Amino acid sequence: MPHSYDYRPEGGLGPRAWTAAVLCLLAAAAGCGAPARPADGGAAPSSAAATVVEEGGQRPAVVPIVRPGRAGQEEDGAVAAGARREEAVRSRLEAVRGWGLEALPLSAPRPPQARPELTPVQGVSLHEGLPPVVARVPTDDQVVFLTVDDGVEKDPQFARMAGALGVPFSAFLADRMARSDYAYFRELAAQGHAVHNHTLTHPDLKLLGYEQQRQEICGQQDQLERELGTRPRLFRPPYGEYDDTTLRAAGSCGIEAVPLWNEEAFPDHMEYRYADQRLHPGDIILTHFRGTDLWNGTMPQMLREVLDTVTAQGFALARLEDYL
Ligand SMILES: [Zn+2]
Repeated sequence: MPHSYDYRPEGGLGPRAWTAAVLCLLAAAAGCGAPARPADGGAAPSSAAATVVEEGGQRPAVVPIVRPGRAGQEEDGAVAAGARREEAVRSRLEAVRGWGLEALPLSAPRPPQARPELTPVQGVSLHEGLPPVVARVPTDDQVVFLTVDDGVEKDPQFARMAGALGVPFSAFLADRMARSDYAYFRELAAQGHAVHNHTLTHPDLKLLGYEQQRQEICGQQDQLERELGTRPRLFRPPYGEYDDTTLRAAGSCGIEAVPLWNEEAFPDHMEYRYADQRLHPGDIILTHFRGTDLWNGTMPQMLREVLDTVTAQGFALARLEDYL
C-alpha cells in the first residue's frame, strides 16, 4: 500500500509550539538561554555565519554576521553579540519551520567532562581486554544518539538539514558503499559529524576467520584515514553480527568501542528493541544513508521523523563521541 510522505513545506509548527519557540528566542536573546550547540567545536556553520533556510527548506542562504565597526567599543560589541545570538536563534527557528518539524528540538545538555565509565548494565557487554559492545550508553542525561550506516545514498539535502538544525550524528561507513563519493563524507566531517568504521565490504564477519576480519576492519581504518584524515575509534560490525574474533581483530586495529543500537529509524516510523517501545537515556538509534530506491522516503523525511519522535519523548540528540 502506498504511503503519503508530504514535505509540509510551509512548516508544521502549531501555535503552541511557536509560542514556546518565541519564548526560547527571547530567552536566548537576553543571554539567559543558549541556542543550539554546534555539532562540534566551532565546526557548525553558525560559528562564522548564520544559515537561513528558505520556506520548503530547499535552498539555504548564508547571511554574513555583521561585526562591530570600531574596536574598543564594548557597548557596541555587546549589542552586536546580542544581535548575533538573536539571529542564530531566529535562523534555527526558520530551519525548524522550513524543514517541517513539529516542534523545536531540545538542545543537548553540556556533555560530561569525561566519558561515562562502562559497567555491565543492560545495553553494555564487557569483554576482558577487548573493546566493549554498547547498545545503550550509561547516562542520566536525557540524550540519545543518532548513527547513520553504510553510505550508499549521498543526499545533500540531508547534510543541509542536519547542518541548519545543528543536529549531531555519527556515520559508520563501509568502503564498498561510500567510496563512489568520499567528498560527501568529508563535507559531513567538516560540519562536525564523526565518521567511523563499518568494514571494507560489509560482510557477515562471523563467517570469516581472524585474518580476514582483521583485513576488513584494519583495511577500512586505513581507507578512512586516507580519505578523511582521521583514524576512527569506533567500529560497528555489519548486521550487528560479531564474535570474540571480531572484537580481537577490531582491538588490534585500534578500535576502542563497538556501538550497536536499540532503535532503528525509517522515514515513517521507529522500531524499538525494548518491550516498552520507547527511548531511554543513552540509547543509540540506527539508521542508514538510503534513498527512495531502498525505502519509502527520503533522508530528510527520516531525520524529521527521528527529531519529532526524540523531541516528543523529551530527549535531545547528543554527540556519541562525547559519551563513548
Ligand atoms: Zn551496514
